[in-house]
Amino acid sequence: MNRDQFLDALAVLARRFEETEGAVGISQEEARALLELFDAGAINAGQLPLPFEEATRGSRVTLTPERAAGAIGAGEAVEAASLAVIEQTGAVPAIALNAPSQQRVNVAHAAMEAFDADVRSLAQDITRGAVRGQDWHSEMIVKIRQHLLQQAQLGKGSPLTPAELDRLQGAMEEQAQFLKRFADEVAVRNELAESAEQVAERRLRREGREVTEEAVEELAEDLRGRAMTEDEIAARARQYKGSSYRAFWEKSEEQVENDDVIIRYIAIDDSGTCLPCSTAEDEGPYLPTRGPMPGAVCLGGGHCRCVRRREVNPEVADSLR
Ligand SMILES: [Zn+2]
Repeated sequence: MNRDQFLDALAVLARRFEETEGAVGISQEEARALLELFDAGAINAGQLPLPFEEATRGSRVTLTPERAAGAIGAGEAVEAASLAVIEQTGAVPAIALNAPSQQRVNVAHAAMEAFDADVRSLAQDITRGAVRGQDWHSEMIVKIRQHLLQQAQLGKGSPLTPAELDRLQGAMEEQAQFLKRFADEVAVRNELAESAEQVAERRLRREGREVTEEAVEELAEDLRGRAMTEDEIAARARQYKGSSYRAFWEKSEEQVENDDVIIRYIAIDDSGTCLPCSTAEDEGPYLPTRGPMPGAVCLGGGHCRCVRRREVNPEVADSLR
């Protein structure tokens, strides 16, 4: 990131801090300290995430058929290419693609668990300094993209068409934008913690206070507490599977050809079902692809295990049309 890109990241995080009363982002004071560190050349660029443009529009997030085909060599059929992308990730066995619906739901849930495990291990890597900020960011983009493709394809039960891949691109870009802000926050809060003494000293000087060892240590202690923990990073990273779970259900119901089918929303979330999910259940039934989708309405995002169950019921289907 260059100075302008860094400044943009800091401005967004400081705004988030105001909006959330300190729950997310960094304070103005912290943003100022970080910019000073940046200007003093004290921040290693590799520890920072990718710039916004690259993170949200770079090849790593592109799901176009050309990219998918490129992934396994030019000239191959697009369908084969998208299938290969899924298979490369290893989480979805080929046989599951033709499996009956309940089995597919089980595989989708297993893929979600695999995603959780992957992002947990990445959270561990960045917390322990085993990967640089920008590499963690890149790997997260890849994981999210793969998971979205897996779930969409699993929901559909057969390879995605070029038009379907194009439509998924919108969902992926949105996720990439959220991720960019998350990556910025992880990076700058870690930076504050790592440069705690330096930031503390500068701040004391700026405020015209005496730079004693005790004063520095007291401020530095607070700053060290600003680093995001492995648990915090993993918990937020897990949320990114919500949109993939939604894609699973949408693609799945797009395949329903019987006009007499209605959908019941069955609310089941890990660690307590949230209000939007119970409301989604209460307000059903719905027509296929209509109404709330699991993973999308859930407050817990990544905790949603809700399902949409099909039922053949001509009268109700008629009344819903
Ligand atoms: Zn739910």
